[in-house]
Amino acid sequence: MPAFKSYKTTCSYCGVGCGIIAKKDTKGVITVEGDPDHPVNRGMLCSKGMNLHHVVQDKSDRILYPEMRWSKGHDRQRVSWEQALEKAVAVFSTIIKKYGPDSVGFYVSGQCLTEEYYLVNKLAKGFIGTNNVDTNSRLCMSSAVVGYKQALGEDSVPIAYEDIELADCFMIAGANPAWCHPILFRRIEAQKEKNPNTKIIVVDPRRTQSCDIADLHLQILPGTDVILYNAIAKRLIDRKKIDKNFINNHTNDFEKLKESLRSTSLAEAAKLCGITVAEIKKAASYIADAKGFITLWAMGLNQSSIGVNKNNALLNLSLLTGHIGKPGSGPFSLTGQPNAMGGREVGGMANLLAAHKNLANDDHRREVANFWGGKEISPKPGLTATEMFDALESGKLKAVWIICTNPLVSLPNANKVENALKKAKYVIVQDISHRSETTEYADLLLPAAGWAEKEGTMTNSERRITYLNKVIDPPGEAISDSEILWRFARRMGYHGFDYNSAEEVYKEHCLLTKGTNIDISGLSYTRLKEEGSFQWPVPQNNHEGTSRLFEDKKFYTDTGNAKFVVPRFTKPTSELLTEDYPLILTTGRVRDQWHTRTKTGKVNRLLTHISDPFLEMNQVDAFLLKLKEGDIVVVESKRGKVQVKIKVSDTIKKGVVFLPMHWGKVLGNDYGRANNLTTNIVDPISKEPDFKFTAVRVSKY
Ligand code: SF4
Repeated sequence: MPAFKSYKTTCSYCGVGCGIIAKKDTKGVITVEGDPDHPVNRGMLCSKGMNLHHVVQDKSDRILYPEMRWSKGHDRQRVSWEQALEKAVAVFSTIIKKYGPDSVGFYVSGQCLTEEYYLVNKLAKGFIGTNNVDTNSRLCMSSAVVGYKQALGEDSVPIAYEDIELADCFMIAGANPAWCHPILFRRIEAQKEKNPNTKIIVVDPRRTQSCDIADLHLQILPGTDVILYNAIAKRLIDRKKIDKNFINNHTNDFEKLKESLRSTSLAEAAKLCGITVAEIKKAASYIADAKGFITLWAMGLNQSSIGVNKNNALLNLSLLTGHIGKPGSGPFSLTGQPNAMGGREVGGMANLLAAHKNLANDDHRREVANFWGGKEISPKPGLTATEMFDALESGKLKAVWIICTNPLVSLPNANKVENALKKAKYVIVQDISHRSETTEYADLLLPAAGWAEKEGTMTNSERRITYLNKVIDPPGEAISDSEILWRFARRMGYHGFDYNSAEEVYKEHCLLTKGTNIDISGLSYTRLKEEGSFQWPVPQNNHEGTSRLFEDKKFYTDTGNAKFVVPRFTKPTSELLTEDYPLILTTGRVRDQWHTRTKTGKVNRLLTHISDPFLEMNQVDAFLLKLKEGDIVVVESKRGKVQVKIKVSDTIKKGVVFLPMHWGKVLGNDYGRANNLTTNIVDPISKEPDFKFTAVRVSKY
């Protein structure tokens, strides 16, 4: 008999979605290794994934039992689950009765399992009667979602990781996969090693580690992406390096795009972007010569006041060249979180409905409401992430239920968020760890089970659904997020929440997808456990899943054609630089930390790479400000300030500074909380915050 038992599961960090084998020995000690049979990672794991067992094993920070304040201003005290849920029901019922259903909201996470996401949406939209359900995925993918819907008719990533091994040109835009999606990057690296003629273009104001394999680094100024992609499009059109056959037969509005680019000048574009005409021409020639062309992008495009337009402009390059729906080709948004896509499948945003149905469509709302058997669903979109905290601050929103996320560190303008939480009538926080700074403001704190302590499913960046096994019991009185939600719903008197397992929730979700573009009615827990992961759609029990969409060139739009969308804004609409605030701050991740460090921050091995926050600044800017490596500086914007150590480099564009987004109030002060500085400006359509452009000044502390 083996000394351990093996469980197949999936990494809980980024959207790459690597398969993991968790091994539990007879004493309950867990180790992890990459699953050699998983099609995503083929046994590989990055530093974060290979240290996941340390996170699970260290229980020192865990929330072990429900805690409640008997009144504001008092410390929380341990209570039973009975008392906790009774209080949650009493507070929500009273507030809803007095102020209406839109006076409460749920702020959840792309780290929730699909079943949990499904339940919170069903509860809020179908029974409480509010669409105030939003998620930290709003900070991540919402601009890409709008871009896909406008161009392809559906929030649908067309390609699969296996296309990486079939492509000969990659354009990595506003992303640093070498650090943020490492296993996917290894596959691109391997493709380049095997086929040295493969061209790699990286678009980024910073020369990141992803540039190490680049043939061309377009070091543009933040916010100028649309200008660059339009210039490349113009060059491709002028040189007749476009796929006329594909454009004529499978797209709409090419002439509109062409007309909009009529006066585009490569010289002017190059000047605005801060690069050379030769670089634009080179990028266009790489794309023109490609047999398989993949665009990969992440937060550099999405987290912008013109995030949707940036997506539109990049998607146009795939459509112009016909590089979609065929091997080795297509646009590929890189999901930041492990289950941002699964969350969207069940309607996990304030403007979405379950099973990718349309909230604005009367028939769709009726269909979902009838399926759930609850209330009519409101056509009014709910509050988005930043709107929810604005409404808490203004008093319009009275109570918020925060699940598996730490908005006090991750949302923009953190001081405003802090103020909102102070002003809220009632705050429920459901999480695994006391390390989340947001728990400080919880009136009711609910202990949730973490990774490996519950079962469920997640969907990665390439539409791949994987089953996650329960390996161990959660500590103390923690229970799964699903169980917390269904127990609360039952106490509220809502029928239709008589679940006994995550599998029952999953089955219901699958049924609702039947006949939709994301149909997974042929994918059961049994198949996931026995056959492994599948890419949606999986419409029948014997269906093998769908690795690539649009091979038949039938898109999900009304006409069946893909659509060129002319970006409305070309130039940035971000906060203006002034004499007082002359530098552009951009924020992002470092290799071994994840989000707000509630998990990775407690693993010593992950602190050996970068242990503290830092401000990266170009050497010329540092010289002009008389600053040197290691100096402590004060970074100030119109909203707040932080103190941080400076890192002088020649890898960041002059005029731009970079601060990692992971750190909260280090040592209880504002040492490195990047979001003290960031703005409330959001993209007008996607409502995704403009994290990549804040006007700041820097001075010696
Ligand atoms: Fe986990 Fe992403 Fe690393 Fe894979 S690449 S092990 S999913 S963090």
